[in-house]
Amino acid sequence: MNSDPQESSCIFCRIAQGELPTELVWQDEEMVAFRDVQPQAPVHVLIVPRKHYATLAHLEDDTVAGRLVSAAKKVAEKMKIGQYRLVINTGPEAGQSVFHLHLHLLAGRTMGWPPG
Ligand code: AMP
Repeated sequence: MNSDPQESSCIFCRIAQGELPTELVWQDEEMVAFRDVQPQAPVHVLIVPRKHYATLAHLEDDTVAGRLVSAAKKVAEKMKIGQYRLVINTGPEAGQSVFHLHLHLLAGRTMGWPPG
């Protein structure tokens, strides 16, 4: 269930399939990247596998995780961003609210630490 290629009720599946209007900032066969609807920094992009995985913990092997980070690097290069933070919230306690694996790319301001 959690690794089905697409779930009809999943908003990120629908964006990845082009069913919801969103401006993609980058894409390849496996991943899409689009701007977060509630940006937490001047640049806030979500990198999302086209295939549905509920969380990072649902990945069956390391390949997708590596490609996700690699995709974020490509997005940053395309957007000419040299300094940025990558975040994967995993589970509600960590702040995950959309249960389709995604990587946040945040940039354009000084980041605080520890995160809230
Ligand atoms: P997380 O809380 O880590 O699960 O992140 C989910 C993110 O998805 C949040 O930052 C939301 O603002 C963002 N989000 C939810 N719906 C949409 C949407 N339709 N388009 C773009 N971003 C969205």
